[in-house]
Amino acid sequence: MAGDELLILFNYLNCKTMIPNKFDYHRASSVDEAISLMAQHGMDAKLLAGGHSLLPAMKLRLNQPGVLIDIGRLDELRYIKKEGNELVIGAGATHDDIAHSAAARSTFSMLSEAADLIGDVQVRNKGTIGGSLAHADPAADWPAVMLAANAQIELRGPNGARTVAAADFFTGFFMTALEDNEIITAIRIAEPPKGTGSSYQKFMQPASRFAIVGCAAAVTVDGGVCQKVSIGFTGLADGAFRASNVEAALTGKKPTEENIAAAAQLAGEGVMPMSDHFASEEYRLHLARVYAARALTAAVR
Ligand SMILES: Cc1cc2nc3c(=O)[nH]c(=O)nc-3n(C[C@H](O)[C@H](O)[C@H](O)COP(=O)(O)OP(=O)(O)OC[C@H]3O[C@@H](n4cnc5c(N)ncnc54)[C@H](O)[C@@H]3O)c2cc1C
Repeated sequence: MAGDELLILFNYLNCKTMIPNKFDYHRASSVDEAISLMAQHGMDAKLLAGGHSLLPAMKLRLNQPGVLIDIGRLDELRYIKKEGNELVIGAGATHDDIAHSAAARSTFSMLSEAADLIGDVQVRNKGTIGGSLAHADPAADWPAVMLAANAQIELRGPNGARTVAAADFFTGFFMTALEDNEIITAIRIAEPPKGTGSSYQKFMQPASRFAIVGCAAAVTVDGGVCQKVSIGFTGLADGAFRASNVEAALTGKKPTEENIAAAAQLAGEGVMPMSDHFASEEYRLHLARVYAARALTAAVR
């Protein structure tokens, strides 16, 4: 291929991959308006929150919505508060909001730890927890943390509101239990019992800081024994998942180094690990065991 032909091809690819298709833009003034706009425009419409997953996908033409409905400035979605014995996080709370929330930290320290490890300052300032959960990237941090925290995800759509447990929300590769025209409005996390500690640990991709393997662990110790253990993994498989085998191996045992190591050794068992140019299947499995042990040890401490 001649030099000028190469240049034309380069420019074509460049503009093909940097400029999204044409779309119409609506800024919703309330959740109700966003829901009715979605119903009006159907499958052609997409919600826009922080834009830090959707816009890159549009620039790569992996996603080509004809209509964007902006919910990124809705105050009714942007809050973090305690309600009775629950922490309630609005879907529009940014990663940075959560990183700096005393209420979030005092409920589960893994919430602030995970928020702090997401992307860079710009991503944390714009990206939202609702956007991350809806996008369900298999390397995203929040899904693992929501699983370990036994979070309940509140959804609202044209047929009203419903609540889905995190364990039922993530259904596969970039897939969730969200129905057409539904919006995530909030995340509810019950205050854990006394004696509960938590931690989020990840081995990250050095440029994006997405998890190559991330492990969130919450452990309740009472009477010197692990009464409840909850573990969520991300990055390892094609979607976030609960490691019930590791949980069962530690429940009822003393939180000793040996017991934690033995339980962590089971991480990834029965799971089909992902493999890409960042990490092979074997390496991901190794990381899962190492990071499960680290997260459990830190949670117990
Ligand atoms: C350079 C870079 C580094 C990153 N690093 C990390 C990282 O280390 N860890 C990590 O976890 N993530 C990372 N991300 C992703 C980032 O966290 C995004 O902010 C997040 O995944 C999506 O949130 P958003 O608010 O930007 O959503 P958007 O991009 O606006 O939307 C994402 C999807 O969710 C839908 N959506 C948005 N809000 C809602 C809602 N309330 N209800 C229903 N659907 C909704 C949209 O329609 C869209 O399909 C990174 C992104 C970039 C660009």
